[in-house]
Amino acid sequence: MTMTARMPRERADGPTGAAVVHAIRHALDRCLEEPAGDPTRDIPALRDADSDAVGIAWAPTTGEARCLGGGDWDRPFSLQSVSKVFALVLLLARDRGDVWELFATPGNEDYRSAAALDPREGRAPNPFTNAGALVVVDRLMEQHGDVAAAVRDLVAGEADQAPRGTTSVDEAVAASELSACHRNRGLAHLLAERGLLHHPVEAVLEQYVRQCAVAATCGAVASAARVLARGGRRRDDRVLLAPLQARRVNALMLTSGAYGDSGAYAMQVGLPLKTGVGGGVLAVVPGRGALCAWSPGLDAAGTPRRALAAVSHVAQACGLSVF
Ligand code: GLU
Repeated sequence: MTMTARMPRERADGPTGAAVVHAIRHALDRCLEEPAGDPTRDIPALRDADSDAVGIAWAPTTGEARCLGGGDWDRPFSLQSVSKVFALVLLLARDRGDVWELFATPGNEDYRSAAALDPREGRAPNPFTNAGALVVVDRLMEQHGDVAAAVRDLVAGEADQAPRGTTSVDEAVAASELSACHRNRGLAHLLAERGLLHHPVEAVLEQYVRQCAVAATCGAVASAARVLARGGRRRDDRVLLAPLQARRVNALMLTSGAYGDSGAYAMQVGLPLKTGVGGGVLAVVPGRGALCAWSPGLDAAGTPRRALAAVSHVAQACGLSVF
């Protein structure tokens, strides 16, 4: 396989600001046709999240790169699994060619599944499952004393001026998840038994729940994800990821960003996306920008229904599908 350095440049055919504003307004109405769903039960501190909240933001790669949004787009939400995208980006930013060797080829595993821990293969499940994400955190601990702070700083550093200060690690949410994460603790022990962790189980878990507890606004998250829409380049044009790595992260988002429902959303939305049980949905539009929506109500599969619907409506109205 030859590796090319194809660099997606910003495209001139992105939607106009007026088109996005119109699409966002429409999407915020239409997404209310979906049942609100209930906030996650797995993290006690998030059980009472406001199911009626919904917000969406678009961060374009072109022009003045100003973020546009509507609804609750300026309220920080708990990133949960959306943080796995940024953790993987951080790990790949210092890749010496061995990161992808750690993980099995993506499948549509349930995010909590232990089934993918195949001892014959000796690899972790893909980095967007909880088990795979625990391995990402374990390796990041070799580079960053505080993994959550590194994720927080990456998100905050790419944001437009206004939302910057609102990106934080919500220690109460982290402590709450840590007190209740029996399954993730079990997964971490299975990983340790297979020799896939370099650090003690409890230390990895603590860093993992803090990473998941990073809180940021839709505007900040969409702004940060522009790195993946710009072939790995940051807002100041510095290279964070090689273009090939950015493409691979986008491919992983498309194939497993919504776990077992990823295929359905590839058809419905047509964008690399990542969901989180905090209610966030992040979608990358290569060459053009990124969308992030938030609404805490989840369906039975753990997908934030209204946030997903909002992303889907904007993607359709603005012709953003990659297909
Ligand atoms: N912290 C959550 C967990 O480990 C993340 C799951 C998700 O957002 O999909 O279960």
